[in-house]
Amino acid sequence: SPTLRHPEEWSRSFSHFISQCLIKDFEARPSVTHLLEHPFIKQAHGKDIALRQQLAALIQEQHLVSLTSYRHVRINTRKTLIIESCPDDDLVNLEFLDEETIISHLHKRYDELQVYTYVGDILIALNPFQNLSIYSPQFSKLYHGVKRADNPPHIFATADAAYQGMVTFCKDQCIIISGESGAGKTESAHLIVQHLTFLGKANNRTLREKILQVNPLVEAFGNACTAINDNSSRFGKYLEMKFTSTGAVIGAKISEYLLEKSRVIKQAPGEENFHIFYYIYAGLYHQDELKTYSLPDGTPPRFVIQHCKVMQDIVSRKQYKEQFDAIQECFRNIGFTEEEVDSVYKILSAILNTGNIEFASITSQHQTDKSEVPNSEALENAASLLSIGPEELQEALTSQCVVTRGETIIRTNTVDKAADVRDAMSKALYGRLFSWIVNRINSLLQPDMNSGMNVGILDIFGFENFQKNSFEQLCINIANEQIQFYFNQHIFALEQMEYQSEEVDASLVEYEDNRPILDMFLQKPMGLLSLLDEESRFPQATDQTLVDKFEDNLRCKYFWIPKRVELCFGIQHYAGQVMYNVNGFLEKNRDTLPADIVVYSLMDLLSKMVVGQPHFVRCIKPNDDRQALLFCKERVMVQLRYTGILETVNIRRQGYSHRILFEDFVNRYYYLAFRAHEMPETSKENAVAILERAKLKDWVLGKTKVFLKYYHVEQLNLLLREVI
Ligand code: ADP
Ligand code: MG
Repeated sequence: SPTLRHPEEWSRSFSHFISQCLIKDFEARPSVTHLLEHPFIKQAHGKDIALRQQLAALIQEQHLVSLTSYRHVRINTRKTLIIESCPDDDLVNLEFLDEETIISHLHKRYDELQVYTYVGDILIALNPFQNLSIYSPQFSKLYHGVKRADNPPHIFATADAAYQGMVTFCKDQCIIISGESGAGKTESAHLIVQHLTFLGKANNRTLREKILQVNPLVEAFGNACTAINDNSSRFGKYLEMKFTSTGAVIGAKISEYLLEKSRVIKQAPGEENFHIFYYIYAGLYHQDELKTYSLPDGTPPRFVIQHCKVMQDIVSRKQYKEQFDAIQECFRNIGFTEEEVDSVYKILSAILNTGNIEFASITSQHQTDKSEVPNSEALENAASLLSIGPEELQEALTSQCVVTRGETIIRTNTVDKAADVRDAMSKALYGRLFSWIVNRINSLLQPDMNSGMNVGILDIFGFENFQKNSFEQLCINIANEQIQFYFNQHIFALEQMEYQSEEVDASLVEYEDNRPILDMFLQKPMGLLSLLDEESRFPQATDQTLVDKFEDNLRCKYFWIPKRVELCFGIQHYAGQVMYNVNGFLEKNRDTLPADIVVYSLMDLLSKMVVGQPHFVRCIKPNDDRQALLFCKERVMVQLRYTGILETVNIRRQGYSHRILFEDFVNRYYYLAFRAHEMPETSKENAVAILERAKLKDWVLGKTKVFLKYYHVEQLNLLLREVI
């Protein structure tokens, strides 16, 4: 019988014993319980339960060897059961914590299709760019109220942790998903909703289906095909799932932020308009409906003419038609009435028709700058769909009311101005429509939002840095600064809590605080956003006066005006330097809500989240070609840096990255100070004896744990190897 006292000793023989065999019938990596029940193990040890229990104990003991769970007993892609010398489910457990090691671990895991990895309580999710068979109901069952270490890292585990946290502590939770475009945020959010509806036992099947259909519906209106992602979310989304105190799902609520309305009127080369425009076109194609909704059946409307596959080939039309049917189904299931859906289509068509309105200038004796609509079809269509008269619409587009010194004057618009008004109207219509749909969903999905508890899921654009960055990028990046600030607070606070509970000096924790950058943006009255709002109120303001204003008032190292580039300013964000072009800033700021208010609403969101217990999911895009199994080291490195993962690891590295229970410590290292047969008591005193004997410096004792720097563990292991 195995009487191997020393963990490494048994580990060697155990891994030898186990690595001899191929195990074919494990679907997932087994937990210890599974392992022990497996026919192979049973067979190997006969029916001797005591022996099998001993084996379990040994596996548990393996825990001490690596200071992590026994789960580094696992099955690789060739279905071989293997034992790893270094567990890598959680990067924090690694003994070497440099960038290189972290990357190569992630790389190795990615090659084995282990796309999820923990860093402490943060989940890193690498986009697999292929369908994995790990999201089935069987997996949902696996990740249901178990210890995190019992299963491989998984997005379901994060959902489960949030759910358990909510039920156990009666506290709201929030899951913050971040990452750049195409990294997998939206997919992760779906999977979380899927698992939460499972955990929340929506015994009301209808409610469950409704909740699951919210995302597809909203995404039809808020997502589009971009150069980077075929289904890119062009808005920020916060979905709150509501539960009773016993954890049953009762409803959901969605909030949207910063919809990219400019996409309605113009798309960058190679990009498309919002999905819904193509869906309705395909959905209503070939039928009299095209006429009912006054959709032109010849040349596609101007707003969708770019890449209008719907018109060009039957295959994609068929695909879009399927999407259209699915959306119809979502509308119906969530509870929209036929009339409501009908009005939605009418408004969409009105927008498309509005886009086709053209202007010509008319020069009369009195007025030179006047425009009119020469081809009235689009105008008439749009007007009738909006239930207004065509003259009224023409009037609204070609003239404007100006109030000067108490007098109302009607001014006519030039052709260019009229076209601007037309585009602004199209954007505004779409923006309102989107908000209306979101509000309607909310009223259909929340029976009573005043009681119960929440799990919120934030899926918001990641940090953006393009060739040319404008107002939209600024808003997105400020939102990301705020999320980063919140992230730091959380990580830092957790770290400090552990120090405090162990009564260790917390001043030892240091990190890069992005507070000063946030202040530069948000301070009143001299922050960048306040200055922008102020300048937007001056009718005579120009891009140049805006840049001058920034230059005169913003004096800090995070802001600069480049010498050689016109009308630009640079910002040193936490995630890197971004150069912004102010062209259009004033107009966009006037057009949308003032920047200040937008960022306010975001602040509200953050303050709501701060109340809840946060869970972080950091999505990483392993390559830019959307290819499965392609791991581009440099790209991953950059993302790890600016999602704060490396920073997080650094926080731990600068501090005491290893905190080991006295008991575990003595069990692991007693060889360094005691003889094999001595079996020393696993006490604080004996831990100190070992540390002193090993001649380590700068360690700290907490109440129950030894606090070690990362290099201490390396030193100890080196010593251990010498004595064994
Ligand atoms: P983001 O919201 O971060 O821009 P998405 O969630 O839309 O990115 O993901 C982009 C694409 O990557 C998806 O359309 C899908 O093809 C793929 N993808 C992301 N996550 C997964 C996953 N867990 N499994 C399979 N494919 C995924
Ligand atoms: Mg997305």
